[in-house]
Amino acid sequence: MIVVLKKNITASETEQLVQKLKESGCKFQLFGDGEPIIRICTQQPLLSKDFFLSQPGVQDVLRITPPYELARKEPDKPDTVIRVGDLEIEPAHFLMIAGPCAVESEEQIFGIAKQLSRLGVRFLRGGAFKPRTSPYAFQGLEEEGLRLIRKAADQFQMKIVTEAVSSAHIPLVAEYADMIQIGTRNMQNYQLLKSAGKQKKPVLLKRGMNATIDEFLLAAEYILQAGNSQVILCERGIRTFEKATRNTLDISAVPLIQQLSHLPIIVDPSHASGKRSLILPLSRAAIAAGADGLLIEVHNQAELAKSDGPQSIDFQAFEELLASMNELAPFLGKRIL
Ligand code: PEP
Ligand code: MN
Repeated sequence: MIVVLKKNITASETEQLVQKLKESGCKFQLFGDGEPIIRICTQQPLLSKDFFLSQPGVQDVLRITPPYELARKEPDKPDTVIRVGDLEIEPAHFLMIAGPCAVESEEQIFGIAKQLSRLGVRFLRGGAFKPRTSPYAFQGLEEEGLRLIRKAADQFQMKIVTEAVSSAHIPLVAEYADMIQIGTRNMQNYQLLKSAGKQKKPVLLKRGMNATIDEFLLAAEYILQAGNSQVILCERGIRTFEKATRNTLDISAVPLIQQLSHLPIIVDPSHASGKRSLILPLSRAAIAAGADGLLIEVHNQAELAKSDGPQSIDFQAFEELLASMNELAPFLGKRIL
């Protein structure tokens, strides 16, 4: 961090600032020639940008490293490998997560798991706790939904990705799930992020629909900082002025996050577009942009789906999508997992 001091800073203001720096344990250097500045070298920002901005005699504060210490990419350090039970998701993998928006019944989740596992999908998604905009909309089967998706996944040797909507539910969801999803509406639920960070299951963190890339990576930082290094990021579209799609897929977030962070980043074209007809082209865009995987909503009877029917694709469309990903993956140095 560079702290630029005012040209007319007094000797006593400088002295007081230096004293506070010494007391904080920050390593720093004071340069007095020309524009007076303090260069602070610290692994963790022991004193915040706001602290310096509120000190008399300080003109400006410039960060030269990003605020997310643990999520940031470091030269010479490999990208994160995610361990899900006996499976390892490596940087060369292209992860396919598929399933319905919500677990609706035993018949529904078993039927979908059976078809997806037949196509080689290893990760089954399905919400048991659903964060719905309206309190009148289907809220999910809760623990019964967790039990059903676990049973279906076990029968077809699949792993489960399912959402936790509150920190109180984390122990319960962690008991059933192989990977815990934190949804867009909860990306800044800091208690939930901390609770997910304190348990051992990998976390799929979706980007807040209004979150900047910095805020997204800082949300991941909460989980890492609480002790869980196993975080997969998911770009799922952001809110813009455009109403023709449910959200706007920020495809540039994919290569940008890969430059900024060692965490894998996958794409959810289902919630990004809200439109079945856009899932295949956006999936192609995602793999071409270098994404580490996809999260796709698939339903056996989308016309009867209790949530997100219009964006859910059927098995035939999913099979076509998978064939397309298999064709494109080698060009990107990826293998489908
Ligand atoms: C979901 O994955 O079904 C979901 C609710 O996603 P998001 O949080 O991205 O809206
Ligand atoms: Mn959904």
